[in-house]
Amino acid sequence: MMNSSIKILAFGAHPDDCDISAGGTALLWAKAGCKVKFVSVTNGEGGHHEMSGEELVARRTAESQAAAKIAGIEYLVMDNPDGQLVPGLEQRWKMMRVIREFKPDLILTHRPNDYHPDHRYTSQLVQDCAYLVGVPNVCPDVPPLRSEPVIAYFQDNFQKPHPFHPDVTIDIDPVYEEKIQMLHCHQSQFYEWLPWIGRHDIPVSNDPEERLKNLRRFARPFSEPKEEAQELLRQRYGEKHGSGVQHAECFEGCEYGAPLNQEAIRRLFPLPE
Ligand SMILES: [Zn+2]
Repeated sequence: MMNSSIKILAFGAHPDDCDISAGGTALLWAKAGCKVKFVSVTNGEGGHHEMSGEELVARRTAESQAAAKIAGIEYLVMDNPDGQLVPGLEQRWKMMRVIREFKPDLILTHRPNDYHPDHRYTSQLVQDCAYLVGVPNVCPDVPPLRSEPVIAYFQDNFQKPHPFHPDVTIDIDPVYEEKIQMLHCHQSQFYEWLPWIGRHDIPVSNDPEERLKNLRRFARPFSEPKEEAQELLRQRYGEKHGSGVQHAECFEGCEYGAPLNQEAIRRLFPLPE
């Protein structure tokens, strides 16, 4: 059983990124009594072809809150314009305050190489905060962290400069339908924006059951355990259980922050004893 005092802070660039990459693990953490906070570093106002501005921000914030309610977690949508994130000092300090106020044991974010500049710079900002969160004279209006968080990356498929390598793989089968329900809250994305911009080719239906069926199809590749992940699942969950896992979320340690060693993996992630 996990120590329920563990706190997890996830930074995605947009108000659905954390859900896609870590929604299942967040559900497991929350069920173990841990405090989880998802942060969208931008306000999501870039993610639509018909809506924009405040109207879209309000809609996406409400979608995020609905997803958070399903998971039993907190969700913060920051007020930075979507598509315009720059990893400068102002943003670094904004993120620093979020980290210091929450006092996480574990921080999750994108990897630094990614197609979307907001994803890249979110990752860059987390890395820029990694050491400085403990330095009292930097951003002195919030007290520094006295214990260094572990930082880990979400999974992606980018191959350069090096492909994603899972250090931790979590079986999310027990909560997979709940994760789908979380994604289903982001209606503006999965049923409107993403099909329009061509990030997926699933048909858009008005029938709620049909929508969910299509969403499951879209979400499948994000949690399909690849070879390395399958190996980790067998190691952690045993041969029989591990080989049967259908849906998993994987994380890779960042070199900064506290090390993601075996002790940290056991302490921080919802894994069997
Ligand atoms: Zn995104």
